[in-house]
Amino acid sequence: MKIKIDPEVCQGHLRCYDFAPELFGVDAIGHGMVLHDEVPPELEAKAAEAVFVCPERAITAER
Ligand code: SF4
Repeated sequence: MKIKIDPEVCQGHLRCYDFAPELFGVDAIGHGMVLHDEVPPELEAKAAEAVFVCPERAITAER
């Protein structure tokens, strides 16, 4: 599974980071960033939930 953040849509609430700091970090301008190119299998369920944590719908997940 891969997760992505659309930088055009991200507003920097960092709810992604609050929800799953093992999946998301904070970039140089205070926006969320994805930490893993490929989500580790044990974190896939949390990655799928993270899509719904973002109020801007900036996060997408695909298999
Ligand atoms: S919650 Fe969404 S809008 Fe906020 S930093 Fe994370 S990806 Fe960006």
